[in-house]
Amino acid sequence: MGSNPTLGVKEEVMKLKICSRYKEKNDPVSEFCKRCGSALELKTALDVEEERRNYDYFIRDFLVVLANRDPKIKKVFKKLTKARKMEYLFSGRK
Ligand SMILES: [Zn+2]
Repeated sequence: MGSNPTLGVKEEVMKLKICSRYKEKNDPVSEFCKRCGSALELKTALDVEEERRNYDYFIRDFLVVLANRDPKIKKVFKKLTKARKMEYLFSGRK
């Protein structure tokens, strides 16, 4: 790649985003690494993290509602969460 002078100039001008994990070069407009999927900027990483957290809360709330509607489901969920040491899921937010 270094032997191509045109590409060298392009890299300089457009500022390719280098992934910190494998040093993969990504397009300047990319938000995520094409090789490993990592966020290429801190803001993107934080946005993704917040999105995941909201999603987790949503799923947890949904499961709690479901469990409280049906004792049989609640029993199954309690068993599953106990096996994974995740009892806190049904004993209030952590
Ligand atoms: Zn990467």
